[in-house]
Amino acid sequence: MSTQSSIPNFTIERHPSPVSDADRAKVLENLGFGKVFTDHMVVVRWSPDRGWYDAKVTARKPLEIDPAASVLHYAQEIFEGMKAYRAEDGRILLFRPEQNARRFNESAQRMAMPEVPEDLFLKAVEELVAIDKAWVPGGDASLYLRPFMFASESFLGVRPALEYLFVVIASPVGAYFKGGSKAVKLWVETGYTRAAAGGTGAAKCGGNYAASLVAQAEAAKRECDQVVFLDAAEHKWVEELGGMNVFFAMNDGTLVTPPLGGTILPGITRKSIIQLARERGLKVEERPYSFAEWQDDVKSGRMTEAFACGTAAVLAGIGTVRHADGEFKVGNGETGALTTSLREELVNLQRGMTNDERGWTRTIAA
Ligand SMILES: *Cc1c(COP(=O)(O)O)cnc(C)c1O
Repeated sequence: MSTQSSIPNFTIERHPSPVSDADRAKVLENLGFGKVFTDHMVVVRWSPDRGWYDAKVTARKPLEIDPAASVLHYAQEIFEGMKAYRAEDGRILLFRPEQNARRFNESAQRMAMPEVPEDLFLKAVEELVAIDKAWVPGGDASLYLRPFMFASESFLGVRPALEYLFVVIASPVGAYFKGGSKAVKLWVETGYTRAAAGGTGAAKCGGNYAASLVAQAEAAKRECDQVVFLDAAEHKWVEELGGMNVFFAMNDGTLVTPPLGGTILPGITRKSIIQLARERGLKVEERPYSFAEWQDDVKSGRMTEAFACGTAAVLAGIGTVRHADGEFKVGNGETGALTTSLREELVNLQRGMTNDERGWTRTIAA
């Protein structure tokens, strides 16, 4: 479906009774992940005749959808995950938001959904952050933004829907993993897979997550934080975690990460880390990496660190790896020095603490 060239004006309907300053301050003091939400949301509608229309910033409330809405039956749904950060000088920053807008449209194409023009996507996000700016916490916390789109047409036939809603909600968040920067423990899944060639692995769609939950539950049963998926064809190659990309650091200054190729989500954190690492003179190899090689490299001492990365958790050191035949530690089982230093470099950029030479941050006029 084609991209509409003009973007609708936004109507602003302020929440009649927003959360009080005192209550908000209490909420922001003790943040988890994705449990509390701001006062407002953005909703924009799409139809074939009108394109994107009826754009509004409005009080956050339940959406009314018909029980026959096709998303409820055939899962035409995509989303994004990004954050607004409060810099020490009070500015509110987004990190590479145009990358999210682009990836959203790649996901839309794969799921036979209409594209959201990049400037509409960015305006929706910026309008929401601006109206809810009091909800952007400082320090290590941030405002997690969740743009998403789903098929809202009431129709049980199987074809791409003819009506969609594009919505943005926001949630102030603290640390993603309970242990803070403590290294995570992973479960290597050899039965269930996440994505196959020609499938939807590179699209950020809810269906991928639905399919990963049973494996994540297996990981939890084994007291692991996250699951590592292997490829669907050979059950041999490391792909990624349920919602994070993965990197392996070697003692000769090489970083290895599985290549994009349709079965892996093209992470913006992944892309940024590749660039930062290359700028440091590290050699980054995007290549297939097998679980057997992982075990060999740990045994020989070649692998010094491994980490997972994504917007929610930034960088998380991989400490212990459990699998069907046992378990092993990566390095000394703690978050490594390179992981910590890349994490700091990225976080300092995201929070406007270092000079943004690469033009990666965008200041919200709020
Ligand atoms: C969102 C996501 C990532 C990480 O992408 P970022 O842009 O770095 O947040 C990795 N894997 C999956 C499956 C994801 O959905």
